Amino acid sequence: MKRSSTLSLLALVVITVACATHRVAQNPSTGRLDVQQGFNQYSPEQEVEVGRQAAAEVKRQMPLLQDGDPVAQYVRKVGERLIAHAPGFKYPYEFHVVNQKEINAFALPGGPTFVNLGTVQSVDTEGELAGVMAHEISHVVLRHATSNASKEQMAQIPLAILGAVLGNGTGGQLARLGISLGANGVFLKYSRDAEREADELGAQIMYDAGYNPYDLVEFFGKLEQQGGSGGPQFLSDHPNPGNRQEDVAKVISKFPKRNYAREDTHEFETVKERVRGMKPMSAQEVARYQQEQQVKMQRAAMEELRPSGSFKTLGAGFLTMEYPSNWQVIGSEQSSGVTIAPRGGVSENAIAYGVVASGFRPQPGHESLEAATRDLVNSLQQQNQNVQIQDAQRISVNGMPAMSVTMISPSPLSDGSGRPVPEQDSLITVQRQDGAIIFLVFVAPQQDMAALNGTYQRMLQSLRVQ
Ligand SMILES: [Zn+2]
Repeated sequence: MKRSSTLSLLALVVITVACATHRVAQNPSTGRLDVQQGFNQYSPEQEVEVGRQAAAEVKRQMPLLQDGDPVAQYVRKVGERLIAHAPGFKYPYEFHVVNQKEINAFALPGGPTFVNLGTVQSVDTEGELAGVMAHEISHVVLRHATSNASKEQMAQIPLAILGAVLGNGTGGQLARLGISLGANGVFLKYSRDAEREADELGAQIMYDAGYNPYDLVEFFGKLEQQGGSGGPQFLSDHPNPGNRQEDVAKVISKFPKRNYAREDTHEFETVKERVRGMKPMSAQEVARYQQEQQVKMQRAAMEELRPSGSFKTLGAGFLTMEYPSNWQVIGSEQSSGVTIAPRGGVSENAIAYGVVASGFRPQPGHESLEAATRDLVNSLQQQNQNVQIQDAQRISVNGMPAMSVTMISPSPLSDGSGRPVPEQDSLITVQRQDGAIIFLVFVAPQQDMAALNGTYQRMLQSLRVQ
């Protein structure tokens, strides 16, 4: 049974990127910034996977400009010019524009980068925009989002997919990875050191790409001046590590000298003209938009989970049983166990909706159905101490004596705040003529059990063991 593995996924902490080691150092003789990767137990491929899922979530929930929009195309072009000079692993960077007026930008692990339209509206030069983007790219290069993540957090990845498919608690799943999706975009908590590193490496990338790195300093200066109530959003997500402008300017001053002539392209002027006439959403409007999208996603996910009403027959080696024709059978029919679940109800590590069927031979001296069932429940509880028994009784299944045990455990799905929702696991055991025990576990979050009860009853009534 795979149920136990869900448990190891529960003890989680929010990531704070607080790497004390300074990993971006300026070579005193050449002025170049050398990047040394700090400790990170995850592969870049894993980061790409996390980022890909989080980006899919952002795309579903946030108002983005179409990829073909001239502003989006332009931002992508600036991004591509920069990433050609990004050191380290060649992440599959992508660039999108969020139709939001607050000045902000964020990058997800593994490369997906989002720039608010308000940022494009606020810059006076292409270099300023490139500066913001180079800063974001640097967070990706330096792997700030995952440098402090624990193994358990990365183990959440398959469940993040599950949550996304189910539209249930996805925000909570991503929050466990330190990524929370709000009206202000994706919030990744960065330390001051991480911010300093991203500023410095951002300046180097700008320089290498042929931009004037002082434009980054210029833009930070403008942000600081905007103060107001809390200042621009960019500064709350990417806080000033202290003397930000002075520090970056000092690093830039040691780069090999070059004439930073201002060279705004015609394209920049065209884009500036275009964005002047655009009316991006406010943070409140984005929040409302997100809520609407979530409701739509939830409806779509429930459609996918809902049993079709027509049934197929499973002929596993040890049993036959009807199951909803739009559900899938996982595991070979001849093997010792099968899982029957709706698409999106199951992941590699855990099952949130569906039925697990398997069998075992009782221990000597524990051959009775009751004793064997008790042994099975004990071993489940040993694997998973959060399993609570609610009820156990003798029943009859199609004339066969059977035991029914109702258990409650934490679901792999969580609510909006990241807490697992309670799950009901209904265990049914029957004994074959040769003494072997066949068991089924009907799984669903407690809140959805009533909706699935008819389907589960029909499956059970069709059960024949052989
Ligand atoms: Zn930052």
